[in-house]
Amino acid sequence: MALKIIESCVNCYACEPLCPSKAIFMGKTHFMINPRKCTECEDDYKDPQCASICPIEGAILDKLGAPINPPGSLTGIPPERMAEAMAELQAH
Ligand code: SF4
Ligand code: SF4
Repeated sequence: MALKIIESCVNCYACEPLCPSKAIFMGKTHFMINPRKCTECEDDYKDPQCASICPIEGAILDKLGAPINPPGSLTGIPPERMAEAMAELQAH
């Protein structure tokens, strides 16, 4: 069982030092999680430490491929309102 970091990772380095399993490493273009090392923090913490600190919504997926911090969960902006705001910005 392992989490996964995807390409929307902005390489902020916040998660890497927090991983109790030393499973996080810099890949070719962004940080990645070694699935053989990741324990989902189960033995050490209540929550996955990487996903708890990651500032980017959707950058870390659970073992089923669902974002642990889904759209709106960190910004507090509902996804549909964010889409409207982006459309307004692009219209100007
Ligand atoms: S869930 Fe825990 S063990 Fe797995 S990569 Fe994130 S911090 Fe490391
Ligand atoms: S905390 Fe998130 S954005 Fe930062 S390096 Fe880790 S996965 Fe990437």
